[in-house]
Amino acid sequence: MVTILDKTFGPFLSQAIIEERIGEMAAQINEDYHGKTPIFIVVLNGAFLFASELLKRLDLSCEVSFVRFASYENTQSSGNVREILGLQENLSGRDVVVIEDIVDTGLTMNQLLNQLRPSNPKSLAVATLLHKPEALKAPVSLEYAGFEIENRFVVGYGLDYDGLGRNLNAIYVLQDISSQA
Ligand code: 5GP
Repeated sequence: MVTILDKTFGPFLSQAIIEERIGEMAAQINEDYHGKTPIFIVVLNGAFLFASELLKRLDLSCEVSFVRFASYENTQSSGNVREILGLQENLSGRDVVVIEDIVDTGLTMNQLLNQLRPSNPKSLAVATLLHKPEALKAPVSLEYAGFEIENRFVVGYGLDYDGLGRNLNAIYVLQDISSQA
């Protein structure tokens, strides 16, 4: 068990299981991008650990870049608009793979892909460590998804709770209040 601030989290995915799966994902990417020079776009902050474990298993010639989102409330439409910051590279004609920690509702990934498409990449794919299929609200195709998980809150391996827990080397799940009694 791990306690972060006011919450208790229990073991969910061990480091060994996570890294075995990342090895499988890397093997698939090595095969799919053989002979190509893709550019990987890592979404900060959460994807940093997953990205480092994935990228060091690739035997491709590739570039790596990092983006983060600036979130702001749009005054003209309801909802949270997120703009990508930090992307310097020209993606035109490139094979692009976005690396994300988790796709929950899919809204973030959907917005990100919509902002990348006008740059005319040759191909655009997504690699996410975790995916919550039940929570999905926006259509996103996930070419490389590590684990499909239930709609529960998880921390560790890059994922935080209120800024904490990103450095945990495994993934933990929020315990029900009833099980904490
Ligand atoms: P989406 O736009 O797909 O709903 O959410 C994407 C973002 O929400 C993720 O990049 C992550 O920051 C956050 N998120 C969604 N589910 C979880 C979760 O179970 N744990 C943590 N720590 N963050 C989550």
